[in-house]
This record gives sequence, C-alpha cells and structure tokens, in this order.
Amino acid sequence: MDVLNPADNRKIGEVQEFSEDMVHDTVGMLEKGFTEWSVQNPTARGKILFKAAEIMRQEVEGLASVLTAEQGKPLQEARYEILGAAAVMDFYASVAGTISGQTLPKADYGYAFTKKTPLGVCGAIIPWNMPALIMAWKICPALVSGNTMILKTASATPLTNIGMADILFRAGLPRDVLAVITGSGAVAGAAVAADERIGHLSFTGSVETGDRIAKAINPRRTRLTLELGGSDPMIVCEDADMERAVKGAISGRFFNCGQTCTAVKRLFVAETIADEFVSRFKEGTEAIRVGDGAAEGTTMGPLNSSSGLRYMEEAVKDVEGSGNIITGGTRLKGLGNFYPPTLIADPEPKSMLMTEEIFGPVLPIVRFGNLNEAIRMANDSRFGLGASIWTKDIGTACEAADRIEYGILWINRHMRIPPEVPFGGSKDSGIGRENGLAALEQYLTEKTVILTP
Ligand code: NAD
Repeated sequence: MDVLNPADNRKIGEVQEFSEDMVHDTVGMLEKGFTEWSVQNPTARGKILFKAAEIMRQEVEGLASVLTAEQGKPLQEARYEILGAAAVMDFYASVAGTISGQTLPKADYGYAFTKKTPLGVCGAIIPWNMPALIMAWKICPALVSGNTMILKTASATPLTNIGMADILFRAGLPRDVLAVITGSGAVAGAAVAADERIGHLSFTGSVETGDRIAKAINPRRTRLTLELGGSDPMIVCEDADMERAVKGAISGRFFNCGQTCTAVKRLFVAETIADEFVSRFKEGTEAIRVGDGAAEGTTMGPLNSSSGLRYMEEAVKDVEGSGNIITGGTRLKGLGNFYPPTLIADPEPKSMLMTEEIFGPVLPIVRFGNLNEAIRMANDSRFGLGASIWTKDIGTACEAADRIEYGILWINRHMRIPPEVPFGGSKDSGIGRENGLAALEQYLTEKTVILTP
C-alpha cells in the first residue's frame, strides 16, 4: 500500500497489506508470547515503557518529521503529539506496580481475595488523525497489565506507528508481545475484529465503522471499547475572558487542521458579546498560516485526504443561502489537500455543520440569549464526546457540568487530555474509557479465590 504526503499527494512510502491469514498468524504468535509476558513482574513491564518514552524524547525530531509527512500536521504539533505519547508511556509505566485485587475480612467460610489478571491477546484499531497518541493510549494499559496486542494502523499513517514499535522493541519489548500491522480496514481491520482469540478490542474511529465492528463482535461478547466521533460544543458566556476564549476557539478548532475528535465543532456565543468576539476570532483565524506542515512558519497543514477536502466543500455548500461565511469557504489552490480556516455564522440547525461531525477547519458560530438556550443547543446532537464552557461564574460552570451531555467537559479551556485523566464519550461518541487508571481496568479481569483452611 502506498503512503502519501497530504501536502502534495506524492508517495512517501510503501507498506505491507496484511491479508486475513497474516492477521490470523500474527494473533497466533501473540498467543504464544502471552505465556511469558503475562507472568513478568508488572514493574519490569513498566521499565520497558519508561525506556521507550526516553528514546521517543531523544528521537522526537525524526518521528515528528515522519508524522508530519504522512499526516500533514505542522512539525510543532507533531513534536507535541510524540511527546504526549511518551508522557502516556511514562504514566502507565509508573502505575504498572499498583495493579492489585482486594482481600476480604475473614468470614465463616475462611478467606477470600481477588486478583486482577490479563485477558490474553488484545486488539486495537486506530485512525490517522493522532496516530502516535492513540497508539500509546491503547498499547500502554494493555501491555503493562500483561496482555499482548495486535494494533491495526490507519492506512494513511502507518509509518509513525511502525517507528514507535521499533523504539519499543529497542527498549526491550519482546517481539512476540506487540504486533503493529498495516493494511486496509476492510481486510486487515475486519480480520482483527473477527478473530475469536481477541480478549478485548479497542477501536477509535468513525461511528459507522464502530457500529460495523460492534455488530461483528457482539455475538462473541468480546469486551469492546469504542472511541468514536464528536461534535463538541464550545459555549462562550457574556462574562468570559474574551482573549482566552478567542485563543481557545482558534486552537480548539484549527489544531490538527480541525481533525481532532474533541475539536470545537459548534461554537455558541452570548448575543451581548458576539460582535466583538466574532471580530477578534476572525482576525486570529485570518492570521493562521496554511501550508506544508514541514515548512517553517506553517501553523495549519493540509487535510489528511482528498476525500476530507471534498467533505469540507460539501458541508460549506450545504449552508449556502442560510449561513453567512465570515472568512474562508473556498479550497486553496495547489496539489495538496488545502482548505482555509473557515467561520460560518448562523447556519440552519439541521445543516451538516450543526448535525454531522465536521472533521476539518470549518466552524459554525451561533448566538444565544441565555444559558438555557445555549445548553439546549449544545445537547441537540447525537454526539457526546467533549464540551467546554467559558465563564468566570462558578454557578454557571457547575450548571453546565450538570446539564451538558458529554464525556469530558472543560471550563475555560478546550481539548487538553492529560494521561491520568479518564477519557471517552457518551451517546454516539462511544463506550468505555481510555487513559488514566480507568483504562487499565478494561484490560484486566477480576478472579475471586475463596480459601477455607
Ligand atoms: P475510520 O472509522 O474510517 O477508520 C478507523 C480505523 O478503522 C482505520 O484503521 C480503518 O482502516 C479501520 N477500519 C475501517 N473499516 C473497518 C472495518 N470494516 N473493520 C475493521 N476496521 C476497519 O475513521 P478515520 O477516518 O480513520 O478517523 C476519524 C474518526 O475517528 C473521526 O470520527 C474521529 O472523531 C474519530 N476519533 C475519535 C477519537 C476518540 O477518542 N473518541 C479519537 C480520534 C479520532
């Protein structure tokens, strides 16, 4: 399979297309690897992750340029993602030795205790938007708990993940504990989901693929984590710190060219401050420098694929006659998948911009009169991944925390997800949690022992 650079759509590499049989054989290898890996000291497993994180930091420049070349993001964002993945490795390395069960008080039957044990071979299927970070989110809790893992990379971004696997092996990870495989979703991905030996499947990607996988896997009752799409609302209240909110909206929408699950995808601003907010937001948006992520000074790269670009065109065309384009709105010339940062005021509530996940640099802005109205519009979505509210009033913030439907809510910021914080969605945005100690539990089962002396 060819790997393309989205800045010019030229080929930058080639990877193996895994067949069903190859997936099957790989799972067999990982089953064998599980025998030894599962009985290692957890701290010894953690040490390998510590070492890998150290190498990732030493080699951040090389990995970041590979990530930029295949994904499109500016080098600075690529470095940030690689370092974020290293931080996830550090976190799980540091908690590896804490995995434990419980001891119950002595009773008439004697003693009872529980122990946490790994599941076996686990599977992961990941998307192209944050390949380094999402790989770390999946492999770290799985591996420190003693599982082995097969990870299917996204077709567009396999090279960063292959580079990370190489680092893990150099850090001492046995070769039969992790397999990073490449290939299409329809063949390699489906074969991972279909393999009956998989103890837990963790999928990140679109709702449509998530649904397909859930249907394929449900009859077996295999454990499943689904991290799916989002249409995160950002609510800017009348008393918000205007400067912070404008900066937050710019990075919240245009980071990674808008291709982040928890990007700001619908913005609601209080009527009373809307004119000033929009004028400052427009100014900041127009200062973004779109270009090849590898070029000096670029602050937003291309979309990852030409189909993503066509989707932006379709979503903007869909609001013709209703929403007003404040800035952007027409694709940029050139060989790459370049679309400008675009703001659109007051689109129809039923438009694509307001109802679908817009995975790119286009943002609808809607005015609201009071908090009730803002929360109602924020919740009017099939998604429930992230949300943010910008206010200095603690009562308003708490009311939003109670009433908005989300997996993660930020107050006066948007999108930061530290490794220790549980993360996941509600409604169509998915099931299960990644990150933090919550993710460890998903890769462990609890066994009870009753001992009668
Ligand atoms: P996608 O669903 O098209 O693909 C995701 C992965 O699934 C890829 O590796 C793909 O090859 C594989 N796949 C495709 N068809 C398959 C099948 N039939 N069986 C098994 N695997 C299959 O998603 P994408 O376009 O790569 O990623 C973008 C989506 O991911 C967006 O919706 C975004 O919001 C979501 N996302 C969610 C999170 C989160 O944590 N909630 C994080 C990042 C991205």
